[in-house]
Amino acid sequence: MTERIVIIGAGQAAVQAIATLRAEGFAGSLTVVGDEAFPPYQRPPLSKAYLSGAMDRERLFLKPDAFYAEAKCELILGVAATAIDRTARFVALADGRSLAYDKLLIATGSRVREIRVPGAKLPGVHYLRTIADVDALRPAFKTSKSIAIVGGGYIGLEVAAVARKYDLTVTVFEALDRVMARAVSPILSDFYERVHREAGVEFKLNTGVEAFEGGGKLEAVRAGGKSHPFDLALVGIGIMPNPGLAEAAGLSCQDGIIVDRFCATSDPAVFAAGDCTRHHGRDGNEIRLECVQNAIDQAKHAALAMVGKPTPYSEVPWFWSDQYDLKLQIAGLIQPGDVQVLRGDPAARKFAVFHLRDGVVAAVEAVNAAPEYIVGRKLIGEGARVAPERLADTAIPMKNIS
Ligand SMILES: Cc1cc2nc3c(=O)[nH]c(=O)nc-3n(C[C@H](O)[C@H](O)[C@H](O)COP(=O)(O)OP(=O)(O)OC[C@H]3O[C@@H](n4cnc5c(N)ncnc54)[C@H](O)[C@@H]3O)c2cc1C
Repeated sequence: MTERIVIIGAGQAAVQAIATLRAEGFAGSLTVVGDEAFPPYQRPPLSKAYLSGAMDRERLFLKPDAFYAEAKCELILGVAATAIDRTARFVALADGRSLAYDKLLIATGSRVREIRVPGAKLPGVHYLRTIADVDALRPAFKTSKSIAIVGGGYIGLEVAAVARKYDLTVTVFEALDRVMARAVSPILSDFYERVHREAGVEFKLNTGVEAFEGGGKLEAVRAGGKSHPFDLALVGIGIMPNPGLAEAAGLSCQDGIIVDRFCATSDPAVFAAGDCTRHHGRDGNEIRLECVQNAIDQAKHAALAMVGKPTPYSEVPWFWSDQYDLKLQIAGLIQPGDVQVLRGDPAARKFAVFHLRDGVVAAVEAVNAAPEYIVGRKLIGEGARVAPERLADTAIPMKNIS
């Protein structure tokens, strides 16, 4: 009998899994079920070029229709998977159908963390995760005067940059004492805060939002004990993994579906990849990554394991963010206690911060500095030791740094 693989979630990880499964010779049946109405698309442009209007919707899609036809992959869209029966090996769908599987890949991604304050459901309060979210937000950019951005993470700041292009008055409310605190070093936080201030963005740090106010639609944001008038708000306070189906099916989960180095779950017939997972990082610590790199690489390793060619996942994580004219590229994971080495000049809007851990290059944050990012990522992969003075010396080209 032909082997059947079912993938739940039609996103970044699913597309990679389809490509790798077929490239590695999987000849059985392949079915992807996704609860959104669209074929798999890239989310990064949603808060960047798609929100600004510089990219149209067609360019968001990860693959043309022909890719799925050639891969003989059935896409079931606009239908949620509602349960996994691991004993009988089938997936129940919201429309009453069920899909039998021999191997299952869960790639259900994540969902936005909702803010739980009074008025959070008022019209005018937006989130940003899907095409539908941007299609609702963008028209409001044209008709509104001011936007409150709740959360100074990378999504909040990318939206702030786009909102300034629309000439909106922008205020970022951040509960912590610096922006992008979870993702970048204090040097980068300070730099990005300054750039945004120069572009006209106002910041209220150490300030949590207490309520959204208005009669029938958003009129003000209550924070720091005061009401601030706004006609639009974007909440970007993080995401939560989507392990619900896996949890209900009795798979090991803890803030994400626990997977091993081969992306297998606690059931050897069930694999998981992308935002919905938690795994052991290169340093052995458990982590949950929310980035395209992790979705792609875990999907590759899951697919390899599914076709009987298991190879351990230990890629260096990488990430990027576009704000104004600045391309931020990060490789590796920064940790408090790292020795930080600045290369270049933030005032020139072109610099990098290297992070050394016990003398080894552990992470790099590069702003408009592609060679620093590319070479830095390679050094991290190799576990290279480079003297801080050399990393700081811009007279030494990156290609000669080690
Ligand atoms: C606005 C925004 C900007 C971003 N920018 C960047 C960036 O600059 N760089 C970067 O590296 N990363 C960025 N990311 C993160 C990146 O997009 C994600 O890490 C990546 O999409 C994860 O891929 P995935 O396949 O795990 O999940 P997704 O691509 O989210 O796909 C999961 C899919 O599964 C569906 N699903 C969930 N439950 C079910 C169910 N029960 N049945 C059927 N379908 C289901 C979901 O609706 C979704 O369509 C950004 C994300 C957002 C939202």
